[in-house]
Amino acid sequence: MARIVMKFGGTSVADLDRIRNVASRVKREVDAGNEVAVVVSAMSGVTNQLVAWCNGLSPLHDAREYDTVVATGEQVTIGLLAIALQAIGVEARSWQGWQVPIRTDNAHGKARIEAIEGAELIRRMQAGQVPVVAGFQGLGPDNRVTTLGRGGSDTSAVALAAALKADRCDIYTDVDGVYTTDPRIVAKARKLDKISYEEMLEMASLGAKVLQTRSVELAMKERVRVQVLSSFEDKPGTLIVDEDEIVEKAIVAGIAYSRDEAKVTIRRVPDRPGIAAAIFGPLAEKSIHVDMIVQDVSADGTTGLTFTVGKADLKRALASIEAAQKTIGYAELQSADNVAKISVIGVGMRSHAGVASRMFKALAEKGINIQVITTSEIKVSVLVDEAYTELAVRALHSAYELDAA
Ligand code: ADP
Ligand code: ASP
Ligand code: MG
Repeated sequence: MARIVMKFGGTSVADLDRIRNVASRVKREVDAGNEVAVVVSAMSGVTNQLVAWCNGLSPLHDAREYDTVVATGEQVTIGLLAIALQAIGVEARSWQGWQVPIRTDNAHGKARIEAIEGAELIRRMQAGQVPVVAGFQGLGPDNRVTTLGRGGSDTSAVALAAALKADRCDIYTDVDGVYTTDPRIVAKARKLDKISYEEMLEMASLGAKVLQTRSVELAMKERVRVQVLSSFEDKPGTLIVDEDEIVEKAIVAGIAYSRDEAKVTIRRVPDRPGIAAAIFGPLAEKSIHVDMIVQDVSADGTTGLTFTVGKADLKRALASIEAAQKTIGYAELQSADNVAKISVIGVGMRSHAGVASRMFKALAEKGINIQVITTSEIKVSVLVDEAYTELAVRALHSAYELDAA
């Protein structure tokens, strides 16, 4: 007997037949003698619609009211799944985030879970009831509903698994595991039996939407055993494990891409101490996250800076820099949002040279120009024209010999 948290994403609960399918999967685990808690997302497309409604009324809406609206999608699916479970003889009850409660900080729209009171859920699971918990939602210190950012139900599930001291957290989705890259754009992507927490963390934060980044961070910190698997087929999925559990380590584990960033270039800035602080300080104060940064000095003694911010933050970032024009003293400000960040990831890079140069060569062979480069111990990222996203990902997938036979 085990204690399991099962999480089902939007496509897995997209209509009544799929909700019935989820209910029968849950029943199977219950019938096998396990204690089960379930976390569900909103039906697919619902959260997008709710977000669009908020933006339609006001792009600069009150984040607390945004949360009130977007949290409703999950309320529908927990009720429906509880009904579907009861209909096949499984004792079940729905739980909204605030009812558990799942306590978060006050960052409406991208809140972080701080504590989950799990005792009552454990008591009920031991008595044979299945709690069906709304993903994505929490309760803020202001006593109002919060949400965890897009894709946040993964994080709800991992946090719940930690709070309930579950043996496993099974993330059921519309693909049968974590692949070497997004299987929807590379037909030759290969499913990984195992991936290390660190590689999964990089893959998620560099754009692979299969798990929310925060869920991987939490799993790593709380030692939660996470498995990604299909809600439609009975097949083994992908286990997220410690690095030393992987026997055959590939140099590159996978390739990720993100179309969510925009590029900002500031030209002809006086080259003196304090300039970077004058640019990035105000951005940080506005919680605008800056990712890739390059600086180059030209012969005339001025410098140029190029960096990326989230597409959603571009307008605010430009306004911030324009407001500081006098302090910074730049001559030109430009931006582009038709860019994509392509990253290769692998713990094997720590001990192998030549990973980056192979990347540059493969892109050059396809005539793809690199705009910005950043590296860390286990990843190399480049910024390219968005139109080349798929071509670049496919070329790199072949170049690192990741293609399935
Ligand atoms: P859910 O609604 O179940 O949370 P998501 O759409 O959030 O599902 O995540 C699953 C999707 O992640 C897949 O359909 C796939 O297109 C995408 N994806 C991106 N990169 C990868 C990858 N490396 N492995 C598997 N899926 C990936
Ligand atoms: N329903 C939310 C979203 O679409 C949370 C999730 O699906 O994980 O972002
Ligand atoms: Mg998701």
